[in-house]
Amino acid sequence: MPQILHGAPVQARIFERLQPRIQNLSRPPGLAVVLAGYDPASEIYVRSKIKACADLGMFSEKVSPPETATTEELVAIVEALNARADIDGILVQMPLPKHVDSRRVLEAVAADKDADGFHPINVGYLVSGRSAPRSCTPAGIIESLKHYQIPIAGKHAVVLGRSDIVGKPMALMLLHENATVTICHSRTVNLPEMCRSADILVAAIGRTAFVTADYIAQGAVVVDVGINRVTDREQAVLLGRGADFDAKGRTVVGDVHPIDMERLASAYTPVPGGVGPLTIAMLMANTVELAERHLGMA
Ligand code: NDP
Repeated sequence: MPQILHGAPVQARIFERLQPRIQNLSRPPGLAVVLAGYDPASEIYVRSKIKACADLGMFSEKVSPPETATTEELVAIVEALNARADIDGILVQMPLPKHVDSRRVLEAVAADKDADGFHPINVGYLVSGRSAPRSCTPAGIIESLKHYQIPIAGKHAVVLGRSDIVGKPMALMLLHENATVTICHSRTVNLPEMCRSADILVAAIGRTAFVTADYIAQGAVVVDVGINRVTDREQAVLLGRGADFDAKGRTVVGDVHPIDMERLASAYTPVPGGVGPLTIAMLMANTVELAERHLGMA
């Protein structure tokens, strides 16, 4: 039976470690979330981030400009948050409305309020192995692998996907943990063979159950980052999610075929409930660390 790397116990452990640090501060750490327009998935993500703040006794503020907000208006909102002493971290929920220049808005977040670890300065710190806010999803995955005592050093890690948010920082963090790292993407030749050579396979491509049996070595550790909604019953049944589909009228599947992953992996992160809770935990950790810096405690 493979080991299931649930995210909830890792999140609980991270929160436990954060609690005394939060209590030690002269004021609650503050997180501002900018959610422009209406996107049902983003609403759910933001709600769980705000709930996590409340659970930890942190201050949070949701700023909800309308769908029609311009790039300039969003930049102005971020700059106003940059100037506030009660806000330690700022998160701009992606995706922004299509007409907005997302990069300009993201880069308006001050490096010392960058709760998501996306700012080029913080990315530079990650490359050089210095302490700074780190992209939450890959940082959470490293925490999870450590929590479950999955060896990383000396292992061959293959990261499928090279986004700035997941793939690239994941590869760097695995490298800092002394894995031998291969990054694959849409132009990689012999993709199944590459992936099959992995001791640790991280899939972050946003393609429903794309990674099938011929991508997974027997006994590999598989981290499935993808969150893909399945709205077709027949597809859900083929993926072993018929019962979930019938209960909810839809289901969520990762980038890895769930049945193949369960059959071949020695350990894997379930979707949902594997990587998602880690992303939230690390967002809280980044915000607390930023607050400690702002209050001269770090
Ligand atoms: P992006 O769309 O930004 O990047 C996707 C990457 O996958 C690109 O590098 C792309 O390659 C590569 N790719 C796409 N199709 C293929 C293919 N057929 N073969 C090989 N490589 C391919 O996605 P993100 O990194 O932002 O997110 C990936 C997934 O993770 C999504 O499902 C997202 O919802 C999920 N996610 C989950 C989080 C969580 O908390 N659980 C947090 C963040 C993301 P190329 O560069 O060549 O185009």
